[in-house]
Amino acid sequence: MKFTDLPLVAPLQMALKDAGYETPTPIQREAIPVILEGHDLLGVAQTGTGKTAAFCLPILQILAKNHIRREPKCPRTLILTPTRELAIQIHQNLVTYSRHLKLKHAVIFGGVGQGNQVRDLAGGVDVLVATPGRLMDLFQQKYLRLDKIEIFVLDEADRMLDMGFIQDIKRILPLLPKKRHNLFFSATMPSEVQRLASGILTTPQKVEVTPPATTAEKIDQTVMFVDKSKKLDLLLHLLKDRTLSRVLVFMQMKHGANRIVEKLLKQGVNAAGIHGDKSQGARQRALEEFRSGKVRVLVATDIAARGLDIDGISHVINFELPHLPDSYVHRIGRTARAGAEGKSIAFCTAEEKSFLFAIEKNTRQKIAVIEDQPYHSVESAVAAVTSVGKAKAAIEKRQRPGGSDGPARSGRFKKNRRFGKPAAKG
Ligand code: AMP
Repeated sequence: MKFTDLPLVAPLQMALKDAGYETPTPIQREAIPVILEGHDLLGVAQTGTGKTAAFCLPILQILAKNHIRREPKCPRTLILTPTRELAIQIHQNLVTYSRHLKLKHAVIFGGVGQGNQVRDLAGGVDVLVATPGRLMDLFQQKYLRLDKIEIFVLDEADRMLDMGFIQDIKRILPLLPKKRHNLFFSATMPSEVQRLASGILTTPQKVEVTPPATTAEKIDQTVMFVDKSKKLDLLLHLLKDRTLSRVLVFMQMKHGANRIVEKLLKQGVNAAGIHGDKSQGARQRALEEFRSGKVRVLVATDIAARGLDIDGISHVINFELPHLPDSYVHRIGRTARAGAEGKSIAFCTAEEKSFLFAIEKNTRQKIAVIEDQPYHSVESAVAAVTSVGKAKAAIEKRQRPGGSDGPARSGRFKKNRRFGKPAAKG
């Protein structure tokens, strides 16, 4: 199927051609007709699946077809998204897709002065992309009205709740007209998100694409067992290889991210950090420099990196394993975007083995072990592949005379694969 097979108007077809899009992704194929028919939509999809175009294209078409005069301070469509980066990305997508249409859009988010945003809203807009905090802020200052919203999109609902935006959303919903077209997107559907969806959507059509396990399959995933104190040395060792050209490193905490950036800079590696404590300017600068290649290593926390759309990330390194398996899938999904191949490397200590187990269970994949690295930690590896008792026994056996000579090359670790088996799928 091609985009030309979808019932999209000529100005949108032209814009897609300009952007070099030919084939719609599964969510685009399924969601675009449903939205054009006016149904509410529940989309279960994560970033990287093409979901932004899946909702932006039909919205633009609906707005362009029912051209009504814009009213001061009133958006016709509200797209609510959790982070500034996502808001900017969605807005960039809108600019791309609407270039042959006469529609007006704006983006508002916190962390920057409000002057330009207020000015953009003054004459009314067809589409407003917003983060919840700034939206409420400008609403309360009466720079914005929400009573003319025709289409409401809640993007990344699960992340919204993770980030504590539920109260904001609950305050925003009653401000919207009761009769409206609703689109709701979430990567996962835990019960809290389901409850939120059922409070917003009216007899929605559900579109679900590529569960996380499938998305992760096209990424070459490996794990390196290493002691905590050797992780930085391992990272520096890996960075000697220039094929690690654009590397996204994930940390659990902001201060950890700052610390790694400092250490990399000291060692002459061009690195920058991106996390919630950085100013909007600093975050955008880091992203731009990473995009342009000036910065080789971007060190990020989950929230800052969620939905980052940067082409050509060669490697995602989980310096610390995430505590939730879904975060792992989101993290590694920053590479291998739009069909490209990508690599991910996880650093795993003995203490992190339960996170590794959870990830493998969730993705239904065993992650291949790379032992051929100078900081390979046998203890971490053994702890990660056996229960604690068995691990002890295995280590003791190795220490006995006549036991195996080199743990890194022995027994189950042969062929760089856990249990000596190729990575199992399914
Ligand atoms: P998203 O999941 O919306 O964040 O999109 C991921 C990336 O894929 C973005 O860079 C889009 O510009 C790109 N993209 C989306 N749909 C298509 C398509 N049908 N063909 C090619 N690239 C696309």
